[in-house]
Amino acid sequence: MMEYTLIKSKRKTISLEIKSDGQLIVRAPNRTTRREADAFVKKHEEWIAKKRRLITARREQARSVPMLTDTELKALADKAKAVIPARAAYYADRMGVRYGRITLRCQKTRWGSCSTKKNLNFNILLMLTPIEVIDSVVVHELCHLFEMNHSARFYERVYAAYPEYDKWNRWLKEHGSELLARAGLR
Ligand SMILES: [Zn+2]
Repeated sequence: MMEYTLIKSKRKTISLEIKSDGQLIVRAPNRTTRREADAFVKKHEEWIAKKRRLITARREQARSVPMLTDTELKALADKAKAVIPARAAYYADRMGVRYGRITLRCQKTRWGSCSTKKNLNFNILLMLTPIEVIDSVVVHELCHLFEMNHSARFYERVYAAYPEYDKWNRWLKEHGSELLARAGLR
């Protein structure tokens, strides 16, 4: 029998949770007996094992990602300064839009943002991505100067300015978290 911690409460159904250290938690209604909880765990043994393998694999992967050194981060910041404002100026000109200031930072969650004061902000880790990804993020933020939302109208503008947007946005979705992990920021 697998070991687990049983937590009873006023809930109506039984559920399983696996902590990041692999510990199994069974949450169950107050009236649940040990025997019922055992049976529930037994029935889901395969699912639990699979989930635990996944957690281990993720942890291993995170450990194998090489962290960026301070020197490397500084180099990325310098490169971002040379590349991003130029890309923003190029697309803004084509789109006929003006923006305020551009700030470049190393951030944990976002690749870019646009303030209501029309200032743009970009993540220097974009320098680890293909130029097409940088352009797609730049265009995304520039389109927010017209539409401060993610409506259909917003995306119409995005696609008009950057037809390959979806392809590179997908690239960022697939590889983004790994890149953010390299900065040691998660
Ligand atoms: Zn957006």
